Amino acid sequence: RSADAPFRLAVVGSGPAGFYTAYRVMNRVPNVQVDMYEALPVPFGLVRHGVAPDHPEVKNCQDKFEEVASSPNFRFLGNVSVGSSSEPFSPDQCRVELQQLLHNYDSVLLAYGASEDKKLGIPGESTLKGIYSARQFVGWYNGLPDSAGLEPDLRGEEAVVIGQGNVALDVARMLLEDIDVLRKTDIAEHALEQLAQSKIRRVRVVGRRGPMQAAFTIKEVRELMKLPKVAFHPVNRALIPEDLKSLPRAQKRLMEVVVKGTASSPNDTPLSWSLDSCLSPRHFLANAEDATRVASTEFDITQLDSAFDPKSRVQPTGKTLILPSDVVFRSVGYKSSALRGFAEAGVQFDERRGVVDNDGLGRVTRLVSDGHAGASTQQVPGLYCAGWVKLGPTGVIASTMNDAFATGDAIVYDWLGGAAFLQSGGTAPGWDGIRGEGGTVNGDKAISWDNWRQIDKLEKEKGSAKGKEREKFTDTTQMLSVIS
Ligand code: FAD
Repeated sequence: RSADAPFRLAVVGSGPAGFYTAYRVMNRVPNVQVDMYEALPVPFGLVRHGVAPDHPEVKNCQDKFEEVASSPNFRFLGNVSVGSSSEPFSPDQCRVELQQLLHNYDSVLLAYGASEDKKLGIPGESTLKGIYSARQFVGWYNGLPDSAGLEPDLRGEEAVVIGQGNVALDVARMLLEDIDVLRKTDIAEHALEQLAQSKIRRVRVVGRRGPMQAAFTIKEVRELMKLPKVAFHPVNRALIPEDLKSLPRAQKRLMEVVVKGTASSPNDTPLSWSLDSCLSPRHFLANAEDATRVASTEFDITQLDSAFDPKSRVQPTGKTLILPSDVVFRSVGYKSSALRGFAEAGVQFDERRGVVDNDGLGRVTRLVSDGHAGASTQQVPGLYCAGWVKLGPTGVIASTMNDAFATGDAIVYDWLGGAAFLQSGGTAPGWDGIRGEGGTVNGDKAISWDNWRQIDKLEKEKGSAKGKEREKFTDTTQMLSVIS
């Protein structure tokens, strides 16, 4: 290919993985044209719809993304879903097939995150009311259109959060936080109204293992410990070494916070939370008054093979425990799914791990039988992945950024090194080619970056009238109706 041939890259997903990879490639390849496809009319993925509203500083990465999007080499195509097999967010959503991207770009980056959730697979989970996934609940308070109608039932006093990662602690904090603090954030208005009426007094954050094995980090635990007028029920001290000084520094500091607890005691304040260890959910139960709603959860009591080993496994003890559960939040992880058209494109999706097979640097790979006894791994030319769809749903924005840079470097290396891509010589027409082909549903409904800026401006104006950072639109039809 000629040295000045433009490089057309389609990015699927506008979260941190998509933006940071685009940034890296745009910085290092002269004459690159990036088209970023986003299923929602609004950008930023979990930065907008996952990160808790009382963590505004975490959203500062959006300034960098705005800088990327301001480049003449970048085009945002919001409200365009690629190869999605799920229902459209709205009847007005534009839909494009993966095959269309493959025919019209030199390269396609899969950075569409993880928009499903893992299930527990226990009785009552899908039949009883009052059990929500943390993903839905987080989406609800963050104004994700798909979850806006959730209306979680917060009329009871006892909440159980299953899982002990940072998302579980976000859920607990949102249930216990002073409503006047939340009022100043960009929390969705419907959530604010309902949380203001919440009767929840006790939140149990339950894990199969102990505090030494939990996935949460110090910042999130400390925030809960600092909530005014919210007490913490002491942890089972036998699960944490007596002598904290012997622990590695990060773990020592975390365990100090867990052991120290809060200034308030459960006796002098109605609101409290706890970390409940060594409990594996077994069954959700209703009660005699209402057979359709969850009332309690039965757990298997587990035993750690080695209480202080962060990697320790657990065994069932044969004993069980029932905890009152007026409402349950399942926080056991997000999950990616395959896009329609993967098989034809030669993309292999690991259903168990929920990731696209790749070489670790983001080059999409597939196993090919060599006709004899074995199989070899081959790169799928022009296809790359980054972020949660590459790594699985773990890690923060900073780690997603580093991962995206690694993928970006692989793309740059391959392009500048003359590797095989989807087209053979700077002829890829990009979005204009797809529009010209026809075959898109609602092709004229794609949202540009300027359109997003209009939505952004209105959200900020609506927010400032109420003393908040922004008031999000939570309905895609509304979003589309305000752009001119
Ligand atoms: P995402 O951010 O999920 O972006 C994927 C994008 O792809 C989305 O916009 C989605 O709409 C779009 N998409 C999906 N399917 C399609 C399709 N078919 N076609 C087109 N577009 C599609 N990290 C921190 O550093 N600090 C925090 O406080 C923090 N809080 C978090 C709270 C929660 C509840 C969660 C779940 C995560 C949190 N994280 C936090 C982690 C951080 O959000 C992730 O590391 C990061 O967002 C992953 O980036 P991604 O681009 O891979 O995925």
